Amino acid sequence: MANITTNFNDRTIEYEQLLSDFKQLLKTNSLKFTIQREVILETLYNSDEHLTPESLHHLIQKKFPELKTGIATVYRTLALLEDSAMVTSLSFGAQGKKYELGAKNHHDHMICTECGDIIEFVDEQIEDRQHKIAEALGFRMSDHSMQIYGVCKNCQHR
Ligand SMILES: [Zn+2]
Ligand SMILES: [Zn+2]
Repeated sequence: MANITTNFNDRTIEYEQLLSDFKQLLKTNSLKFTIQREVILETLYNSDEHLTPESLHHLIQKKFPELKTGIATVYRTLALLEDSAMVTSLSFGAQGKKYELGAKNHHDHMICTECGDIIEFVDEQIEDRQHKIAEALGFRMSDHSMQIYGVCKNCQHR
């Protein structure tokens, strides 16, 4: 696996900074800063998984049952965070969307359409080629996302 990197769990932002950006975002959208919203952000920050709104909600309910965070709050907060690029989402067809913190080093994804498993990777050659293609076509590239769909190793053996 030369030149292929597969671990992207490092955060590129401190939690305190993220939290203060989040407070600013809520203010800009005339929304109140609540403990439920903070817990959504914190849980996303501390998770290395790509989470569906339902699995995020489940984690929060398990850890902070007394807060009674509603699933609707999770959906709305995720939408807000995604609009401002603080989280990014991957869609996997009818099964829905999975979210992860935006402040991680750039990486691409392989998505299993059977079990929803997600494999992260970066290949320097692919990255490089994309920049060169954009340049050759006179395109000013700001970002890219690549999602490869298919069936993971485990599901192939089932
Ligand atoms: Zn699978
Ligand atoms: Zn990812």
